[in-house]
Amino acid sequence: MSKLPNIGTSIFTIMSKMAAEYNAINLSQGFPNFPVDERLTDIVATLAKKEVHQYLPMAGYAPLLSKIAVLVQDSYGRILKPESEILVTAGATQAIFATIQALVDTDDEVIILDPSYDCYEAPVLLSNAKPIHIALNDDYTPNWETIEKVCTSKTKMIIINNPHNPTGKILTEMDFEALQKILLKFPEIILLSDEVYEYITFEEKHISAHTRSQLLNRCIVVSSFGKTFHITGWKVGYLVAPEHLMKEIKKVHQFLVFSVNSLSQVAISEYLDIVSVQEISGMYQEKRDYFSHLLKNSRFKLMPCEGTYFQVASYSAISNENDVDFCKKLITKHGVAAIPISTFYADGKDLRLIRFCFAKDNSTLEQAAKKLCSI
Ligand code: PMP
Ligand code: GLN
Repeated sequence: MSKLPNIGTSIFTIMSKMAAEYNAINLSQGFPNFPVDERLTDIVATLAKKEVHQYLPMAGYAPLLSKIAVLVQDSYGRILKPESEILVTAGATQAIFATIQALVDTDDEVIILDPSYDCYEAPVLLSNAKPIHIALNDDYTPNWETIEKVCTSKTKMIIINNPHNPTGKILTEMDFEALQKILLKFPEIILLSDEVYEYITFEEKHISAHTRSQLLNRCIVVSSFGKTFHITGWKVGYLVAPEHLMKEIKKVHQFLVFSVNSLSQVAISEYLDIVSVQEISGMYQEKRDYFSHLLKNSRFKLMPCEGTYFQVASYSAISNENDVDFCKKLITKHGVAAIPISTFYADGKDLRLIRFCFAKDNSTLEQAAKKLCSI
């Protein structure tokens, strides 16, 4: 008996493991390989000798909650009550899990836009609810007409991911207008906005759900310090929710983790005093452009990347194999690991596309590109 018969091992685990086995350059699972800011590691070293090793309050370290409120206000102009509208979580994954478990019930429907990141499906299924997968358009914009058509009294939640993993697409003002129109028609639907890459956008500015004043009474926004500060392994994130929903989310959170790792919370809180999140996009934009420059003479066709640290590429000029087989061969024969995009689709739609993570030091990108250009 399995409660999740169709959920397997995450593609990120599979590909990273295979990359290690074959000693391939790992551009698959999304994590930076360059050093963490020394100011942050210095804070950790100093703090480790202080009294920061016992449980913190369930919702989070109070100074960190206040600093997240300042960050959200500075970034989007939204004023939050730190003690009741913010929850520090063990990464965005736990924020999303707790939110869905708390708010989605048996037979509810949850709209997920494919290609979709892999952590939405399981908590929906564990709630005995039904994931409704709607494919994005070919240019990766959401198909709002189709989304509206599937909304019914059963629809409990729409999950958006903006900036979008894996496509790097960001939502526009027009997208938000269309989304808002649908949500105003269906006042019971909750919006879960996964914005873990909110500080990694390039030519266009990120539009956050925080700015949609008409939706904030039923909107949960999720973020991750793992992405923002290049510390994915720390697993510290947060969510923002209106009080009536937060009350329910906290009931799950307290029995899932109770409270999040104390040293990390205090360190991030101190680091927020000295770091500017506005510098992150520029650094990643240089990496995106450098990686694209390095692959200029390859046979991969790079898709537009507006945000995140992922580059989608078509390999149809190289091979007609399915994307999973192509990625396996890329590791075993060519020494580079990537992620097959079909695994982000519930129906396994294969468009001969793969995803590279460019959150790597230049020498790693150069070595990988050399191999990729020789294919
Ligand atoms: N959402 C998206 C879109 C992601 O790419 C990730 C990636 N790691 C997460 C959520 C989970 O974030 P965390 O590592 O903070 O749990
Ligand atoms: N978010 C990361 C990615 O998209 C993976 C994180 C994980 O392995 N859970 O690659």
